[in-house]
Amino acid sequence: MCGIVGYIGTKKACPILLVGLSRLEYRGYDSAGISTIEKDGLSLVKDKGRVKVLESNPEIEKLSGTIGIAHTRWATHGKPSKENAHPHQDNSKNFSVVHNGIIENYNELRNMLEQNGYHFLSQTDTEVIPNLIHYYYTKNQNNTVNGFLQAVRDCCIALKGSFAIEVISKLFSENMIVVRKDSPLVIGTSATEKYISSDIPAILSYTRDFYFLNDLEFALLQNDKATFYDQNLNEIDKKTSSIEWSATASEKNGYEDFMLKEIYEQPTAIRETIGARVSLDSKCNFEELNIQKDYLSSINKIYIIACGTAMHAGLVGKNVIEKLCRIPVEVDIASEFRYRSPIVNEKTLSIFISQSGETADTIAALKLAKKCGSRTIAITNVIGSSITRESNYSLYTHAGPEIAVASTKAYTSQVILLNMLAVYFAELLETSDLKTINTIKQEILDLPKKIEETFKCKDQIQDFAKKIYQEKDVFFLGRGVDEAVAKEASLKLKEISYIHSESYPAGELKHGSIALIENGITVVSILMDKTLMEKSISNIQEVISRGAKTLIVTSHPCNENMFDEIIKVPDTISYLSPIISIIPLQLLAYYISKEKGLDVDKPRNLAKSVTVE
Ligand code: GLU
Repeated sequence: MCGIVGYIGTKKACPILLVGLSRLEYRGYDSAGISTIEKDGLSLVKDKGRVKVLESNPEIEKLSGTIGIAHTRWATHGKPSKENAHPHQDNSKNFSVVHNGIIENYNELRNMLEQNGYHFLSQTDTEVIPNLIHYYYTKNQNNTVNGFLQAVRDCCIALKGSFAIEVISKLFSENMIVVRKDSPLVIGTSATEKYISSDIPAILSYTRDFYFLNDLEFALLQNDKATFYDQNLNEIDKKTSSIEWSATASEKNGYEDFMLKEIYEQPTAIRETIGARVSLDSKCNFEELNIQKDYLSSINKIYIIACGTAMHAGLVGKNVIEKLCRIPVEVDIASEFRYRSPIVNEKTLSIFISQSGETADTIAALKLAKKCGSRTIAITNVIGSSITRESNYSLYTHAGPEIAVASTKAYTSQVILLNMLAVYFAELLETSDLKTINTIKQEILDLPKKIEETFKCKDQIQDFAKKIYQEKDVFFLGRGVDEAVAKEASLKLKEISYIHSESYPAGELKHGSIALIENGITVVSILMDKTLMEKSISNIQEVISRGAKTLIVTSHPCNENMFDEIIKVPDTISYLSPIISIIPLQLLAYYISKEKGLDVDKPRNLAKSVTVE
């Protein structure tokens, strides 16, 4: 949610910051602002609305400083307005701060500062930060750059909540301090420049070398130097990590929208996820995992915990892990898991899935599972993201940057990864026969080609979208693993087309919700599992009898006259079929959204990585 950018180098900071902000736009925001160190002090330009509004502000032209911070705000405390937009400054205008996150004890801090003569111009929680830095800076009476660092440290120790913060000061015109706790922030580096951002793609065109901070580690930056400190201000050593993503991977490359590009990138993304992990003549290879047979045999439950689309990937994972490994798998929503006093201990293996690796609910759930003694695996797309620092093991999907808010390639790469993990566990435990394992491996390797074939349904889907884009309600049905796909397809439609939709296990509809089926309503069914097909067709018959329009997605022969539209997709084993059957339904959501003239990549009210709980 929202974003922060920073630059400290030899060039004019402002244009670089504006490009960075526009690349972070997809994360969702309501106002934007910038502050640079100028000859006569700190500049401050901010406003409600888009980055374009900021760009067209006449004050922007005047900024020539080579150090600056910038922000897109997603309001949590106080309405979107110019006063509440970041950066915020202390009363003396010595310090400018941008902040991403929530300060939970801001009321208490604000009262304390007010008693000490400070006044506030905004309703934000953030405004306590620059004033608190000023408070400690004057109290500590240390006017060196170490005093600046110490004041920022003292301030951060006093803060409760989540924060990624950049601070600049007119008193220290060659420095910037950045720190994070439970909110994302990365530092890109080159010999004479430092780039700060909420995520990697926004600054990938400038550098491939990144520093990642752990919670409450402080970076004191100069253009040619980065020094790191722990919370006691002891200097710590930090190495850079090199990021392989190409800079153009975060551009549209001729596609109308990122979402469409990412849908079409799925064969490549899946190939990257498979990588060297699967081959026909050796066991599945997960060298990142140091898990032995003894340990796996000792556990009695696997928890898969995630939110939204990643949780739907988890449901597909449950199906394959339970069937191949005979270990019970429970899938839970991260924001619920924490509050149900979950039964987790050293006999539980917990798997957490988050595309960005910054999902606050998922990270909080991970911390809890760890505390209860569970070993933890993180599945994420972003190297060095917070979740990887908290978990025992990290498995990367390598799907490349996903920019569209509605997840597509990240979802399918999570599903393939969970399938490979299930095979890896089954090989360790010897719970599945060689023939089954080899069939799965062959199908995994064939999958990218089959996805390419699936794209042939595009025109048919586009035509169907034209027929139904004005509908108010759509139902999605499926049985077994097809139901997980129904859930994901329904979510995709809601997210980007704003059409109300529901997903149901096909056999469950008649137990209540069938009352909603009326003449002309669209019911989409996924019929990929041959063994369950007949039963599901009976359920579809029930809605047809009540006047429903039906679209089915299947790879099996069926009665052409029974349904209004049949989307034929390539056949694969049921463990992997969710990756094939979701493709036409991603396209359906996409084309409906286009027909309605909506912003596909940035749907209303949504943020790409949900960094608040
Ligand atoms: N809580 C802060 C505010 O409402 C920061 C929100 C954000 O992360 O953009 O201003």
